[in-house]
Amino acid sequence: MHALAVQTVWSASLDAIAEVISPQSFQTWFYPLKPVTFMEDTDAAELVVEVPSPFHGEWLSERYSPLLDAALTRNTGKPARVCFRAREGREIPAEEEAPARPAPRAPEARPAAAPEQTAAARRESYLNARYTFANYIVGDCNRLAWSAAEAIAAKPGATSFNPLVIYGGVGLGKTHLAQAIGNAVLETRPELVVRYRPCDQFISEFVSSVQQNKVGEFAAYYRNTDVLIVDDIQFLAGKEKTQEGFFHIFNDLHQRGKQIVLCADRSPKDIKGIEERLLSRFMWGLSAELQAPDYLTRTAILKQRAEAEGMALPDEVVSFVAGYINRNVREVEGAFTRLVAHARISKGQLTLESVKVLLADLLPSGASAALRVDDIRDAVSRIYNLPPEALLGRSRKRDVVNARQVAMFLSKELTTHTLAVIGSHFGGRDHSTVVHACAAVQDRLD
Ligand code: ADP
Ligand code: MG
Repeated sequence: MHALAVQTVWSASLDAIAEVISPQSFQTWFYPLKPVTFMEDTDAAELVVEVPSPFHGEWLSERYSPLLDAALTRNTGKPARVCFRAREGREIPAEEEAPARPAPRAPEARPAAAPEQTAAARRESYLNARYTFANYIVGDCNRLAWSAAEAIAAKPGATSFNPLVIYGGVGLGKTHLAQAIGNAVLETRPELVVRYRPCDQFISEFVSSVQQNKVGEFAAYYRNTDVLIVDDIQFLAGKEKTQEGFFHIFNDLHQRGKQIVLCADRSPKDIKGIEERLLSRFMWGLSAELQAPDYLTRTAILKQRAEAEGMALPDEVVSFVAGYINRNVREVEGAFTRLVAHARISKGQLTLESVKVLLADLLPSGASAALRVDDIRDAVSRIYNLPPEALLGRSRKRDVVNARQVAMFLSKELTTHTLAVIGSHFGGRDHSTVVHACAAVQDRLD
């Protein structure tokens, strides 16, 4: 059977899986698989699927074999099964004598095998090619972590940043930076074995290996790594057995000068539920914090994304979005994605006004176009300790005039209403009064 048919049979089986598991698990466990051969005769069929690591295969067959077999049986109309096979040449090494790296291939075999080999190495690494240094924006918020990461990528295992722990809150770029190291190493030193694992995947693989009495093989497999990246290690909390397994792997790799990179949602010293001896090792190298992106970084990220999408973002839109969406990078990206989708559908230019509406629910309430002049007016009178009617009335008392002008000014800044409409909310004042008020406040601000 030719490759296309193998792929078709496999895709159809995958559909059955996608219906029953979360997209994230699907991404972790099924995305890296590759169907290799499909054989059938009159009364049986077998599909062989390559898995990136033996533990991956075990984990899958324990949980999904019946489902996959059933799907394949349905699709082929005869009793069928799916078999998992670890990638060739990367079988689990013998327990004690784990080779530091795979034997180099004969040079003449290289040219033809190279792209496939790279693709396979990438699958086994579990790295996402999207995360690179080239598209990582550097700013004050992340410079330390970034420079350590670059140094490591250039000389894995040979800097004093071992392990490198990248920590910080959600959406600040930990996974991106850690994977950028892995991708850079794969690129420049293809002979090195790079393994990226989300912590929960590492835990699942470990638990499977315990159940199958294969802990020794598990350890040997991970010892055969030049750059080991484990993401979200706070999830090791309370998992004593896995911590112990990881402890030994860590020691072994560290001793042999292999690079370890870890990500966590907080500094190792603040992680609870992880053994002291492990935490203290996490602090042997460098712990670098990622902070919430500063304004310039947010601006640069928006501009970079816009360029990548070939989309024209007016400067005022960039500064508006960067100004208000400030908690983390993921949020900035989310806002940007929404703008792109809108621009595609409406085929129109994005204006500041449309952006305010589109992002209304993401913006702090003060920035929303849905904010009403009446709300602003009432909020200002509260702050100035005046009755709400005061700003509607004719009083020329200094504090009242001041508050009224501030409320008009804020209404102009924070809503999309015309000056005439704003004036009408202040006891029917006209447009020129609002102009005057805004100028007066601006003067004082200056
Ligand atoms: P974390 O792992 O800290 O939760 P991620 O690495 O998943 O965060 O980052 C969230 C999103 O923001 C990703 O799409 C990532 O590519 C992007 N991102 C984060 N930091 C940067 C940066 N400095 N430059 C460009 N993109 C970034
Ligand atoms: Mg992450």
